[in-house]
Amino acid sequence: MASAGKQSKHPSFPEARRVVDEYASHLSPTEPEAVSLLDALGLVLAEDLVADRDFPPFPRSTRDGYAVRAVDGLGMPARLRLVGEIKAGADLEQSGITVGAGEAAEIMTGAPVPSGADAVVMVEFTERSGADVIVPRAVQAGENIVAVGTEATQGSLMVARGTRVTHTTVAVAAAVGRAELVVYRRPKVAILATGDELVDINLPPGPNEIRNSNSYSLAAQVAGAGGEPLILPIAPDSANELALLLRKGFEAEMLLITGGVSAGKYDLVEQVLASFEARFLFTSVLIQPGKPVVFGEVTLRDKTTPFFGLPGNPVSTMVTFQLFAKPVLDGLSGAMPQSLPFAKAALKSAFTTKTGLTRFLPGKLGGTHAQPEVELVRWQGSGDLMAVSRSNCYIVVPPEREAFTAGEAVTILLF
Ligand code: AMP
Ligand code: MG
Repeated sequence: MASAGKQSKHPSFPEARRVVDEYASHLSPTEPEAVSLLDALGLVLAEDLVADRDFPPFPRSTRDGYAVRAVDGLGMPARLRLVGEIKAGADLEQSGITVGAGEAAEIMTGAPVPSGADAVVMVEFTERSGADVIVPRAVQAGENIVAVGTEATQGSLMVARGTRVTHTTVAVAAAVGRAELVVYRRPKVAILATGDELVDINLPPGPNEIRNSNSYSLAAQVAGAGGEPLILPIAPDSANELALLLRKGFEAEMLLITGGVSAGKYDLVEQVLASFEARFLFTSVLIQPGKPVVFGEVTLRDKTTPFFGLPGNPVSTMVTFQLFAKPVLDGLSGAMPQSLPFAKAALKSAFTTKTGLTRFLPGKLGGTHAQPEVELVRWQGSGDLMAVSRSNCYIVVPPEREAFTAGEAVTILLF
């Protein structure tokens, strides 16, 4: 097993993922706090959700129809005498409805199946005849009934701690009567954009200046991933000022730096990080876009802060956040390790690329349920914000592949 010190500083994509996953697995999550149910959306459960009763709590009819005894249908068609009607929410003890031999009760979806009955026949398969119902087709015991406790038994685990709360988790929480959930606090993630050419979005850019879009795209990705983004002032390409702002950034629980990690003369981030005695886990990954991505940690006065130096090209920043920074944010958030959302789709048109790097090319996923299709979005390279805004996934090209033919199944990474 490679120890942390033996890792390549320039790993392949899968090696770099292993490095961040391994790092994330040792992180302690932020402290738990109780929040109201809908405020928990996108955060991570710091408690198990347990069934407060059996699910379903009563034998539940899944159809509108007739509650019957399956044995009564042995000699088909059966004529059964109606003994009552059972709506969803009905109190069977009060009405006293039970189904005896040769009997049936009219029943609605979501209603409790009365004792004596062991199947529900769909209304579509029956005929009414006065006070009787005629069941022309055979009925299996258990048909259209969900038995007590078959979804979950009282006291059993419904959703585990470490799960990120989605609409499905909210549904379970509501079903067990939880108006509040205990979740891990959003980790604070400092965001530092670097570059002399950058101006903030509320100022007019000079002719050769550009607006700082990365701090905002990163803040959006951080917030979407359950973190609390803290945007720092733009750092110019000067070692001293960069050092001051980095020091500020290390006060957060994680620091994302964007720009200044390439090989240019004014790409100072790595050397200034080194002046803080940073421990670097990698300083580039064999991917495109995003190759110069830097990952490590800095310890100042007993506080260790993981950091990423993300390449400044806007698409590189986005890709490297998703691939590498998000798993670390997950670790700080108490989330169980997540795999990346890869899928397969048929390629709409052929394309060629170069070998050597794992590539993440902006793609547009469409097509139908029968034939999901993905198309390469024309782009001007990793600075092309417009291209990525027209895409909804990346086409993932393994390092050994060069030519792709129309119709072949390719891997995509969903945003
Ligand atoms: P760098 O990684 O600093 O070499 O920057 C690569 C490219 O990304 C350059 O064209 C920069 O102008 C651009 N860039 C760097 N930071 C940002 C940012 N915060 N917002 C938008 N573009 C940026
Ligand atoms: Mg720069």
